[in-house]
Amino acid sequence: MIAEALSKIKSEIPADVQLVAVSKTKPSEDIQAAYYAGQRVFGENRVQELVDKHEELPKDIEWHFIGHLQSKKVKNLAPFVSMIHAVDSMKLLREINKQALKNDRTISCLLQFHIAEEESKYGLSLEEAQEILSSNEFVELQNISIVGVMGMATFTNDHEQVRDEFRTLENYFNVLKSHFFKFNDAFEHLSMGMSGDYKIAIEEGSTMIRLGSSIFGAR
Ligand SMILES: *Cc1c(COP(=O)(O)O)cnc(C)c1O
Repeated sequence: MIAEALSKIKSEIPADVQLVAVSKTKPSEDIQAAYYAGQRVFGENRVQELVDKHEELPKDIEWHFIGHLQSKKVKNLAPFVSMIHAVDSMKLLREINKQALKNDRTISCLLQFHIAEEESKYGLSLEEAQEILSSNEFVELQNISIVGVMGMATFTNDHEQVRDEFRTLENYFNVLKSHFFKFNDAFEHLSMGMSGDYKIAIEEGSTMIRLGSSIFGAR
């Protein structure tokens, strides 16, 4: 079932769109099934669950942390995490840099933006992101790499609203690219699109979709 769902999705999305298989709450056997079908990139949103799965599962899996991350837990992920999707403060960036340095590595991060109409404590505004990126402190952070932006659209059947929100995120991406990352090829990702809205997200320029239930079934 998992292998079939994966191959169907893979056949329908452009080859240059990365698929993050969101395995949160799912048992390791489900991840293994996807792994044997060729999937290597997985997303989790709980630190302890991710640490446990990393220990148990093949070491060539690329683990993406997609949830809200508390600064005090960064140290648990820093030795192995491939990408942190939801960075929304200077405080968190500072801590990721510190722990990456301790592990002698550079950690890829996406800046999370608040694009949905729903109230949320998480996600930056464009102004806040610009403030971070133009600060002297940011320039000193040598062990993080900002590789793009991430956002979640409103959970609604109104496709035009979802499309508008993804367009807003793409616009933010373009503004930041031209002001801060013009000569930095690493800044290339627009992480947007989940099971319910990834087709719209791809039409609006997504380079990375995060799919859980459409691969692994309902949670
Ligand atoms: C759970 C989750 C997903 C996957 O959601 P599905 O609707 O199951 O595809 C994607 N992104 C984030 C940030 C999530 O928390």
